Amino acid sequence: MTAWQSWEDYRRDEEWITELPKGGDLPWALFYPADYSIGSANLGFHYVFQRLRESGVAAERFFASPVPYRSVDADTMLERFSVITASVAYEGDIPAFYRWLSGANIPLLAEERVAGSFPVIGMGGALSYINPLTVSGVCDFIILGDGMEVLDHVIESLRLYEGGCGRRELWRRLSESPNILVPPVDIKDGRLVRGLRIGRSLDLNGPYPVHSAWMTERGAFGKTLLLELQRGCARSCSYCTLPRCFGSMRWRKFEIVERALDEITSRFEVPQAGLVTPEAGDYPFLPQLIDKLINKNIGVSFASLRLDRLSEQMILALSGSGRRSITVAPETGGERLRFGCGKKFTDDLILEKLAMAKEAGIDRVKLYFMIGLPGENDEDITAMTELCRRIIAETGQSLTLSVNPFIPKPGTPWQDEIFSGKHTIRQKYEKIKRDMRTITKKTPQLRLTGIKEAETEFNLAWYGYNESRELAKNIESGITKLPISNKETTGIELGRFM
Ligand code: SF4
Repeated sequence: MTAWQSWEDYRRDEEWITELPKGGDLPWALFYPADYSIGSANLGFHYVFQRLRESGVAAERFFASPVPYRSVDADTMLERFSVITASVAYEGDIPAFYRWLSGANIPLLAEERVAGSFPVIGMGGALSYINPLTVSGVCDFIILGDGMEVLDHVIESLRLYEGGCGRRELWRRLSESPNILVPPVDIKDGRLVRGLRIGRSLDLNGPYPVHSAWMTERGAFGKTLLLELQRGCARSCSYCTLPRCFGSMRWRKFEIVERALDEITSRFEVPQAGLVTPEAGDYPFLPQLIDKLINKNIGVSFASLRLDRLSEQMILALSGSGRRSITVAPETGGERLRFGCGKKFTDDLILEKLAMAKEAGIDRVKLYFMIGLPGENDEDITAMTELCRRIIAETGQSLTLSVNPFIPKPGTPWQDEIFSGKHTIRQKYEKIKRDMRTITKKTPQLRLTGIKEAETEFNLAWYGYNESRELAKNIESGITKLPISNKETTGIELGRFM
């Protein structure tokens, strides 16, 4: 094996905060369908790996790159594993997952894996809260939502399968849980035939992990301790999947987070903590936590920052951690539309917060905007440029704009709205480019999401069982074209999970 085919360097750079048992009785490949850096920054992936190992499962981690078919943990080859599950966070991960399986010569359709010694394929992760049907054409089982409660049942069923109970008996056993979708049993003629529920752990103060199991410089955020503070959201922004798909807002008691932090810092040097919450400013104990991190000389990064909840303390914590840039999401240039999509803050408030950031030494701002929102008109697009002009004039900050087409997602108040399509998006992009060129001093940098990429995301977001199978067949035949989704029929089926 040449050096680049091994994970040895990655293993050496991992610092294990939680010591996990080695060995076990069920060879389980836990796959993240993206690069190691991205998967290492996904807290759910850490949780599942930890839980499997603590349950005596011989789980090993796989990533799509840089060494796709060998485990990080021991460079074990994929063919040694009888169970493969993927944590799927985004729509774009689905084709990557299918391609990876196909590249390992594993038949994608579940019924084609029954005969022979092909592995059992499962899926979990953030996408299972929103639309689990997207992967239903391929998986033997899909854990719906928070997986910790049902993981014991899955492990027990898979152990019986390893003991020789057979694939159909495995499907039957898994389908005893209302939180596990078993497509070969639960879907007939493309339609769901059983009542299922997305699992949501309501009490985060139970016996769950609170933090990442390992830290590494090679993670997307550098060497960071991920701390989970909160799940769900109390707001209801019209485009967001959080409130309806991920459940009501619940948070961890400060004492639990504090105890974990004290224990970890007594053993490790933690340069930075990544606070995992849908909206950092909504965590009720954030001020105490920031104080604690500052006292321990730990830098802080927030998974998300809602402008109206951005406090001076949060800004100072960021600048004190050495940050010179901040990422915020005004979403739209016009206030009417911004309020309409649930971001109820004015341009003046944006200016006030950014001026505060500038004062603290943060001189670069990344602004997220959406285009193609319901009710949007030309004035809203023009207002985007005017807002940027004002920020530059009043704060002198350098701006980078990330502009993304609005994609109506399942489980959101705007799920029935239309996706603009390439012609309209192209026109709006052209206008934004023209308008931005009129800012001659410190012209903002523009990052426009590719139109094809947005179309792909929209399609995949609404895949049902039939499209999921069609995609699998295309990938096996080397056809790159994506099947078109049928939003209406998938929407009806998804209604049964809510
Ligand atoms: S965009 Fe943020 S504040 Fe709005 S519902 Fe989603 S998570 Fe909550």
